[in-house]
Amino acid sequence: MPSRLQNKVAVISGGASGIGAAAARLFVAEGACVIVADLQEPLDRKLADLISTDPDKIRFVKCDVSIEDEVVAAIEAAASAFGKLDTVVACAGVPGMGAAGDISAEHWDKTFAVNARGVFLFTKYAIPHMIKAGGGSIINISSAFGIVAGPQFAAYAASKGAVRNFSKATALDYIGQGIRSNSIHPGYIDTPIVQNIISNAEDTDAAQSMFNALQPGGHAGAPEDIAWGCVYLASDEARFVTGAELVIDGGLLAR
Ligand code: NAP
Repeated sequence: MPSRLQNKVAVISGGASGIGAAAARLFVAEGACVIVADLQEPLDRKLADLISTDPDKIRFVKCDVSIEDEVVAAIEAAASAFGKLDTVVACAGVPGMGAAGDISAEHWDKTFAVNARGVFLFTKYAIPHMIKAGGGSIINISSAFGIVAGPQFAAYAASKGAVRNFSKATALDYIGQGIRSNSIHPGYIDTPIVQNIISNAEDTDAAQSMFNALQPGGHAGAPEDIAWGCVYLASDEARFVTGAELVIDGGLLAR
């Protein structure tokens, strides 16, 4: 029986779709109990089936990560359903596209509200539970564009850079309480967030080629490629890993 996450209890924001949904399925398969917190009901059919058939292992809580009370409710749902909380995967995100001169202040604020404030709120409200549990693992999904920038991604790259350094600050502040905090930096992964950018582009073929060209291998990764990194950082195998930036990008940052 696989059991890398036996006795772990996790909240996964953005867990209804893409990378978060893949992480939720792998976490349950590896023995964890999971709260999926998202704006929308799970899109992923296998995940939706799991939620309806196994409430002792996984539940859905509707949550806008930028709203403080809703984050508190998602965190409390984990503690009350499964008795504790020791793992957070902050995965909810929005694309935040456009160059600085072309985007509005509202667009900037909305991008930061989800991608940066949402990550902060999950850390803030998880910490008391992790201290009570004797430790924990905070896994924040940044981006390759949290390390380097990409054209037309001004607000997104800024918000993902904030996630990278916020994760390190938390690692330093809570190392004495056994809480680890790390960021993951995916390359181009085939999920709805990118599929929507491509399908809404004026020239969809050019947009698809632009994303493929980012990757040295010429194609996207799968959500599971990132989800396995989440499993590792949540597990005790990563007990000495904190303040790290785990790049899983098919070589995007290698050139
Ligand atoms: P995804 O399939 O679109 O998943 C993101 C999920 O977050 C969606 O279910 C989305 O719901 C939800 N969400 C958005 N705003 C929210 C909010 N305010 N509160 C709660 N949930 C919210 O995309 P993904 O690729 O798995 O993205 C996961 C993370 O990976 C994001 O942080 C993204 O920036 C990061 N990332 C992705 C890639 C990539 O190439 N896919 C690369 C680097 C980093 P709605 O669909 O209703 O908005």
